[in-house]
Amino acid sequence: MVIALFGPPGSGKGTQAKALVKHLRIPQLSTGDMLRESIKQGTPLGVKAKGFMDKGDLVPDSLMIDLIKDRITGPDCKNGFMLDGFPRTVAQAEALDQMFLQSGLKMESVLSFQVNKLELVDRLSGRLVCTNCGASYHEKTKMTQMPNICDICQGPVVKRDDDKSEVVEARLTTFKESTAPVEEFYRSKGVLKEINAEGSEQEVFQRILAAIGRGAK
Ligand SMILES: [Zn+2]
Repeated sequence: MVIALFGPPGSGKGTQAKALVKHLRIPQLSTGDMLRESIKQGTPLGVKAKGFMDKGDLVPDSLMIDLIKDRITGPDCKNGFMLDGFPRTVAQAEALDQMFLQSGLKMESVLSFQVNKLELVDRLSGRLVCTNCGASYHEKTKMTQMPNICDICQGPVVKRDDDKSEVVEARLTTFKESTAPVEEFYRSKGVLKEINAEGSEQEVFQRILAAIGRGAK
């Protein structure tokens, strides 16, 4: 089972990814981790990658593909794997397909987490945090007992700049614009699965299992 996941910030993608790899007994492969690991171990690919990064250049797609190709020969990938943070562009998706073809693999499911934008903005922009102890609250769903005073330490509770609604909206728009072409690529291949990501974690998880053909019979 070869899977990739797409979901905007706040969509619960991270939580679902963890539950899914555990359920399917496959590893979650993050290109960022693979890069760091190969550099740390000083593998030939890692040395090459470091050369680009030291110059402040992006690691080329072909090198990322080689890294993935290398990694998926590992024994833990024999039942498949989940890609995290890759592909981000259509060119990467095409190169990945090419490599899979040579390796006798196929992207089986690309899960796209669908959430109502208004609800997402509400969820993210309502977040409040205690500047003293870091406890998190929410304007609507988890209010402090005293307005803007931490229940735990009585420190000041504020909204981070990142969580202001206009910033949240801009982040979501950027996400949508950058992933739309990649999703379209996989839709044309018939492997894009849109997942309704609203509701409880368990509900969303059951929808994912159904979408990838691993649901309860
Ligand atoms: Zn506090």
